[in-house]
Amino acid sequence: MTEILGSFVAGSWHTPTPEGRGEAAGATAGGSARAVRDSVTGELLHHVSSEGLDFGAVADHARSVGVPALQELTFHQRGVILKQLGAHLMEWAANYHEISFSTGTTKRDAFVDIEGGIGTLFTYSGVARRQMPNSTIHLDGGVERLSKGGSFVGRHILTSRQGLALQINAFNFPVWGMLEKFAPMFVAGVPVVVKPATASAHLTRAVVADMIDSGLLPDGCLQLICGDVTGLFDHLAEQDAIAFTGSAATARRLADLDCVKERGTRFFAEADSLNFSLLGSDAAPGTEEFDLFVSGVVAEMTVKAGQKCTAIRRTIVPEQHAEAVAEALTAKLAEATAGDPREKSTRLGPVISTDQRGDVLDAVDEIVAAGARVITGGREASDALADRFPGGAFVAPTVLRAEDPWIDAVHDVEAFGPVTSLITYSSLDEAVRLAARGRGSLVGSVVTHDPAFATEFVRKVAPWHGRILVLDRDDAKESTGHGSPLPTLVHGGPGRAGGGEELGGLRGVEHFMQRTAIQASPDMLTAISGEWVQGAERHLGEHPFTKSLADLRIGDALESEWRTVTLEDIEHFAEFTGDTFYAHTDEEAAAANPFFPGRVAHGYLIVSFAAGLFVQPDPGPVLANYGLEGLRFVTPVSPGDKLKVTLTAKRITPRETDEYGEVRWDAEVVNQDSEPVANYDVLTLVAKE
Ligand code: NAP
Repeated sequence: MTEILGSFVAGSWHTPTPEGRGEAAGATAGGSARAVRDSVTGELLHHVSSEGLDFGAVADHARSVGVPALQELTFHQRGVILKQLGAHLMEWAANYHEISFSTGTTKRDAFVDIEGGIGTLFTYSGVARRQMPNSTIHLDGGVERLSKGGSFVGRHILTSRQGLALQINAFNFPVWGMLEKFAPMFVAGVPVVVKPATASAHLTRAVVADMIDSGLLPDGCLQLICGDVTGLFDHLAEQDAIAFTGSAATARRLADLDCVKERGTRFFAEADSLNFSLLGSDAAPGTEEFDLFVSGVVAEMTVKAGQKCTAIRRTIVPEQHAEAVAEALTAKLAEATAGDPREKSTRLGPVISTDQRGDVLDAVDEIVAAGARVITGGREASDALADRFPGGAFVAPTVLRAEDPWIDAVHDVEAFGPVTSLITYSSLDEAVRLAARGRGSLVGSVVTHDPAFATEFVRKVAPWHGRILVLDRDDAKESTGHGSPLPTLVHGGPGRAGGGEELGGLRGVEHFMQRTAIQASPDMLTAISGEWVQGAERHLGEHPFTKSLADLRIGDALESEWRTVTLEDIEHFAEFTGDTFYAHTDEEAAAANPFFPGRVAHGYLIVSFAAGLFVQPDPGPVLANYGLEGLRFVTPVSPGDKLKVTLTAKRITPRETDEYGEVRWDAEVVNQDSEPVANYDVLTLVAKE
């Protein structure tokens, strides 16, 4: 009797009883258990079922336990947890690799999934701690002045939504697919319910179990449902979100759910797409770019047996190079040894299941029936492989050649395996139209060393793509390649690719938060946003540089004495620094300049004098000045003008793991007529105690 994969819901593991178990792989959803087999041997591994789960309790647990526990933590605290969690999972990586073999992936393939997935936890730890405040609301953009007198201002804030985020994931990245969504959702403060694809749910489950066992996660912030989740949709409403990855057909079905259409559940889809790689006309055989192109296509066909949402389905080349590309691909693919992914020599493992193998070969047949021919691989070659590995789901790497590049099937039919279609273009305009014929893709790449071609091509195809790689001899060595989404860059694409967007650093967090425009007085906005706003009350008194973070409050301020700027000061500064620009040294030339009345003080002299006016010289809690931001010189300063600076504590960000934090000060320099001379933020590190 095989195991039935359990789910982790409402704080405990739940394993369905064997009664609901059926043998058929791919049995319909609705509770009956589905069999999962080893992709290499066909051996029955276990069954998957969500039979008997209380979906209402799942939603309730996320909202009543997960939301408060997670949202009590600041962004920085969440970031620290992600880092610890990443380190914890790394210790178990070898175990995940072992399990991953049963899904058909080689060690090299699994690295992208396992280490790549854990890597997103570290990236999002950095995003939370470096790009977000150490609080529970995030500010978006600057303050908008909404009235003449300045008593009515506006600003956007982002707060955590009060619902759960349901991930529905594809089978091909059971670890990365889960963690690349979990990390931004966790930073955003929303509890996560993971629904892995049945075929590889056992690997996701192993990682989720370790995440829970780590004891690092607040209660209720992570649940796992192996099997059908239909029953959960009835419990989703306006504060919840569904982040789906999978086929376009499933995406359409889910977009039609009542919770999405009628109750306002946010829905994000990352669907299939027919990504392209294009060879520039300059990249003739013999050039570095030609070889890079061929290697890139072969890598995307063989890594994970081509089961990547970003794989190159359409290989687009100049007419005159088509023969050479076909020969080079055939030769290189012949070196991709197919076999058991546990063997070190194996370059190409099986696809996930024999069902999936059937789908891939059907798709190949469909493209062939539409007019393409097989250059290498195809059904016969795949059957020969199947004879060598009985029970395994092997597909031979297949290149199809369509003489007519506009055959619909080439652009519409996704063969989700080691398959690409080779087509040609005759002009840049045709290349653009062919690339766009995918009706929206996750990624496209162009391999060229010609900047003029790259510029025109990229600008024209960008609206149809979420990411574009421009590859040539200069970036090839360090390039992460066509197929790798990166946590700091957006992943997703328009149209057929689902219209969703994930990752992209902070952008990925914002999808699970609510952006709200707040309109109020400067004092109110300061209190609500946690950042001092121009026009709000300032607290003058003890020099703020004498206060540690324990005592400093936003709005604590210093108004300096006056200082007169003399001609000698300007001449001295010019000579001392070597900045003898004519506006500071030549009265006549300066007066002829449209911006200056005559010789004026250097902007950097003003900033230096301002520092001299506001600084408190004794050793104290201020540890360092690490920069200025947003510096603008507004009114020129002539010899004889007076300067005064007002410094106000604007934002205070204690660090979780250090004995200090960042303080951002608003600096405003004015002249004797109260005209603004310079505005900027001063960035300092200040001790906590
Ligand atoms: P799929 O059949 O669409 O399934 C995707 C997920 O949806 C699975 O977890 C599946 O669960 C679930 N699902 C299917 N029908 C459902 C329903 N009616 N209600 C709720 N959940 C449902 O896709 P797949 O075969 O796993 O993955 C391959 C496809 O995903 C390819 O087309 C590929 O291009 C695409 N993909 C896209 C991306 C991207 O980022 N854009 C990434 C990876 C893959 P079960 O497994 O339990 O049926």
